[in-house]
Amino acid sequence: MSDPNPPLCLVEPPPPRGKPPRHWADLTAAERLEAMAEAGLPAFRAKQIAAHYGHHLSGQPETWTDLSLEHRRQVARLFPDLLHKLEDRQCDGGATVKSLYRLFDGELVETVLMRYGLTEELTVGPRGLRSTLCVSSQAGCGMACPFCATGGLGLKRNLSPAEIVEQVRQAARLLADGGLPGGPGRLHNVVFMGMGEPLANYRAVLAAVRLITAAPPAGFGLSARGLTISTCGLVPAIGRLAQEGLPVTLAVSLHAPDDETRDRLVPVNRRWPVAQLLDAAWDYARVTGRRVSIEYALMRDLNDQVARADHLADLLQGRGHWGWFHVNLIPLNRVPGSPWTASRRRDQEAFRRRLEGRGVPVTVRDSRGQEIDGACGQLAAAWSQPVADSTAGSVDLSAAPAPRPTV
Ligand code: SF4
Repeated sequence: MSDPNPPLCLVEPPPPRGKPPRHWADLTAAERLEAMAEAGLPAFRAKQIAAHYGHHLSGQPETWTDLSLEHRRQVARLFPDLLHKLEDRQCDGGATVKSLYRLFDGELVETVLMRYGLTEELTVGPRGLRSTLCVSSQAGCGMACPFCATGGLGLKRNLSPAEIVEQVRQAARLLADGGLPGGPGRLHNVVFMGMGEPLANYRAVLAAVRLITAAPPAGFGLSARGLTISTCGLVPAIGRLAQEGLPVTLAVSLHAPDDETRDRLVPVNRRWPVAQLLDAAWDYARVTGRRVSIEYALMRDLNDQVARADHLADLLQGRGHWGWFHVNLIPLNRVPGSPWTASRRRDQEAFRRRLEGRGVPVTVRDSRGQEIDGACGQLAAAWSQPVADSTAGSVDLSAAPAPRPTV
């Protein structure tokens, strides 16, 4: 019988390897109780442990002094160190922090934490300080988009639910500890726009989403409306996500309104072309009532012509005018020596104005972190060179070749 599922990796899949160690965040409620029994702990300890993790954002059982020393030792086996931080890079006065982590098997993933509202927005903005974390769902990516540093790494492997959840916990802990300018605060938004194609690691991403949004102490209590899952266009998985009953935002990395251009930029388009993808996005909006974010990275003379803005408006509005979409224009994060170049400012503005003139809601995305290899996969690509050493901060990045450009 043929496989009903779509291919989730467009490049040579990696050889099977060991699974990440089991972590508390991988377990269902029933499995947590079983783990208590295995450790010789009464069931009520599961609630206590959940409170340390979900409410206090602590992943260090050795500090949980309401447990005996022996019990802390037992529980520590459920909290392996899944993310070993190699490096933090900061910019925007410390309001943007890009972190690189090494996983248990040596693979690398990145997160970017951004705080908004630190300047005059703080006094005039309606919501004050907001914090957004961009997380990775895979080590590398198998979708092979040629403008993307992560795509250049290929797919290494899927992350486990706990490896995703731990990215969120560590960022939320950093914010709670006042690690970013503006004082102690909390995490508001999580966007699955880091390394990897989230819908190609569907089960783990959904498990992570459910834990991140579960009320403490079971989870971290983030609003599902504050979560965004992006996709380069895995149409069947979009349909499946629409049925999950989760009000998460869907972001579609479109980058071109025509198949000829999109086939070049996003190879998965050859399997599910633009029309099918936008139909799926429209269905998602209808089923969930959530506005879909259409991501469009502007590349000089490739996809930034005003005629393409018109084409894009036609496609989106042709499916409905009730505000089911919002277009995010993304200035390409340019890397020296790359054949892919950011649009000229005037072309970017002309594209934006044409969309606005057509009544399309559009924003030019604030491209944070350009001076810290802010685009997805750039830092990991630099660290993936053979000069990499296991000790944080010991790599001579000047020896690494320039990573491929990405958005
Ligand atoms: S743009 Fe996204 S889907 Fe494409 S290769 Fe990069 S991480 Fe993967």
